[in-house]
Amino acid sequence: MKTNVLGYPRIGAKRELKKVSEKYWKGTATKTELVEMGKQLKLYNWKLMQKAGVDLIPSNDFSFYDQVLDATLTYGCIPARYQKIKEKESKLNLYFAMARGLQNNEFDVTAMEMTKWFDTNYHYLVPEFTANQDFELFSLKPVEEFKEALAHNITTKPVVLSPVTYLLLGKEKEEGFNKIDLLNNLLPVFFELITELVAAGATHVQLDEPCLALNLTAKDRQAVTKLYTQLAGKFPDLKIILTSYFDCYGDNLETVLQLPVYALHLDLVRCSLQLDDVLNATNFKNDKILSLGLVDGRNIWKNNFEDTIATLKKVEEKIGKENVWLATSCSLLHSPYDLDLEQNEETLPASVKQWLAFAKQKVDELVTIKKLAIGDTSKEVVAKLLSNTKAHKAKKESLVIHNAAVKARIGLLTANDSERNAEFSTRQKIQKNKLKLPVYPTTTIGSFPQTKEVRSWRSKFKKKELSLDAYNTLIQKEIEETIRFQEKIGLDVLVHGECERNDMVEYFGEKLDGFAISSFGWVQSYGSRAVKPPILFGDVSRPVAMTVNWSAYAQSLSSKVVKGMLTGPVTILQWSFVRNDQPRSETCKQIALAIRDEVVDLEKAGLQAIQVDEPAIREGLPLRKEYRDAYLTWAVESFKIATSGVADKTQIHTHMCYSEFNDIIEHITKLDADVITIETSRSKMDLLNVFVDYKYPNEIGPGVYDIHSPRVPTLQEIEDLLEKASKLLPVDNIWVNPDCGLKTRDWPETKAALENLVAAAKTMRSKL
Ligand code: GLN
Ligand code: ZN
Repeated sequence: MKTNVLGYPRIGAKRELKKVSEKYWKGTATKTELVEMGKQLKLYNWKLMQKAGVDLIPSNDFSFYDQVLDATLTYGCIPARYQKIKEKESKLNLYFAMARGLQNNEFDVTAMEMTKWFDTNYHYLVPEFTANQDFELFSLKPVEEFKEALAHNITTKPVVLSPVTYLLLGKEKEEGFNKIDLLNNLLPVFFELITELVAAGATHVQLDEPCLALNLTAKDRQAVTKLYTQLAGKFPDLKIILTSYFDCYGDNLETVLQLPVYALHLDLVRCSLQLDDVLNATNFKNDKILSLGLVDGRNIWKNNFEDTIATLKKVEEKIGKENVWLATSCSLLHSPYDLDLEQNEETLPASVKQWLAFAKQKVDELVTIKKLAIGDTSKEVVAKLLSNTKAHKAKKESLVIHNAAVKARIGLLTANDSERNAEFSTRQKIQKNKLKLPVYPTTTIGSFPQTKEVRSWRSKFKKKELSLDAYNTLIQKEIEETIRFQEKIGLDVLVHGECERNDMVEYFGEKLDGFAISSFGWVQSYGSRAVKPPILFGDVSRPVAMTVNWSAYAQSLSSKVVKGMLTGPVTILQWSFVRNDQPRSETCKQIALAIRDEVVDLEKAGLQAIQVDEPAIREGLPLRKEYRDAYLTWAVESFKIATSGVADKTQIHTHMCYSEFNDIIEHITKLDADVITIETSRSKMDLLNVFVDYKYPNEIGPGVYDIHSPRVPTLQEIEDLLEKASKLLPVDNIWVNPDCGLKTRDWPETKAALENLVAAAKTMRSKL
């Protein structure tokens, strides 16, 4: 049996890469410093895995920004707008220009587009293709990293993004061709790369082909077959590990099993059922090694050794010991570094910590399970098994996880709990009477600029350098200023500004029971950005109100309508590390009930409008189409549980900021929020079309300006967008608001932009 790690985190246990990259971009660190840091981080990972005894140690899993952008350089697919930079600058600077855009006296180019990597919170840079796209072997990074490890006497398994998945992840920048046809141009370059790797001494290559977790066309599948057949023909001795993850092979399995590859990796965490599908498939010829991805690369729970060993045994009996590997389910890129760094008992108690494993611990799990499976009975290994069994047993019975009252409440839920009393048309009349808002009411999405000062109060309070009273006073002062600001500008529905929140999910994780918070549990989101998801370990409940004080205080300051501001259950679930001992749907409903309590309390405290943000509903969509309806059903139900506890007069808002509603509009409509605000300015309101075509009945606030840039939209621009919206939607249903929250902006541009927004709404009213 061999142990196989698909990839390791690369940002550094204390986000060292972030720090040095950002300095390099600012010009305060040299290229040598940056490159040296990269070398150190790689070596640390390789040595750690070597010392632990991992058999297949990855290389080329490191990246200064993104592994797909790395492949874009390797395959030499540089979009034309970077041509001048390519001629004049270093490869590294070209790389960062493509990642981040470049604006100086000499150049002015935009970055490549970024999008989510499958269903993770990691973002990659989208390759761009033209009709006759040329490729060239432009960067030898995979070869260089293999040699770099070899120089330390570590023979690695290079990880290469397959040309097929690479093409399928990209975007056609002109019409009249199918990107998969570019495989003919790309294959020679890919083979050149493989030739170089073999020449350098590589014996195994992990070919990442995660597009096999998606529903492919017959043509795409033919491309897969073509690639692997030609590869095996040209390199008969090279051991190819075909590696897909994040979901089942599904309807691609038949194709996959026919491919002439040395090993086939299965993500058995995401899709455990496919193991039997593979073993029982008529065309499974038992001529491949199976790499069993049993150690979860996406989540932080300890592996259950007994279960894993049982699975290994079962497969060994069927295909022989020599054909079974034990692997991480996917790259550990999606796991935090090292649990040993977590020393804050207050936020991550030992009782919870004992159930966790971060990347370093997962490597140890792999090796320990292998030892157990091959019959190692040394004291140390047996002790590890005992402690693993003990931890899992404790988990089943633990009172910090299992809360009878929460489970009972879930059991008592009825259909009534996820429906408002009256239907929307009735509620709309009641709310219009009660709230007395003008037509084209103006509002914002929740957050206002988070200045350095505000952030410093929070961090001082956490470090206990500021008392609770002092902290509360500062926050109240900030809320008051934010309210006065909005009144002065003339907004109609105000918000408290979210200045007390570090993050829209972590804040609720800190307040709810059933969550723990790590100190260093960072996971790369994109480039130098990382997120620290809360750890949802147990039944969720709300011991005390979480936002009521702030919202009620804000409302007490103004005679205008103030909107309460919460994060929705699906988004909290999606942006946390979630327990794996019960279905996600169950966990989501528990969060929904906690949010419901908060919504009801906000209503009691006098808030007449309450927003429940759900920006992550779409990204939770399963990769495979066949699972989507089931997900959407429980996601919608959860939102409705959270928002249906209030009277008809209370206006429920929701907010979503991504750009695709086409395939989910039916479910968005079922949310039945009184008002939905969405991001539409960059698409110039095109995103509204799907709402119009579907005859979406409720009120909508299509974002009228992009909040990602400091640029102030002109009055005319906003008016034009509203004009467009007014032609598409009934005037009674239109709200006026920015695309999203303003927390990353500064005050001066916020003021100027909102003044124009309010003025545009007034102009629209005067035209009626
Ligand atoms: N209410 C949040 C804010 O304004 C919404 C953020 C989001 O959609 N991601 O910041
Ligand atoms: Zn948003």
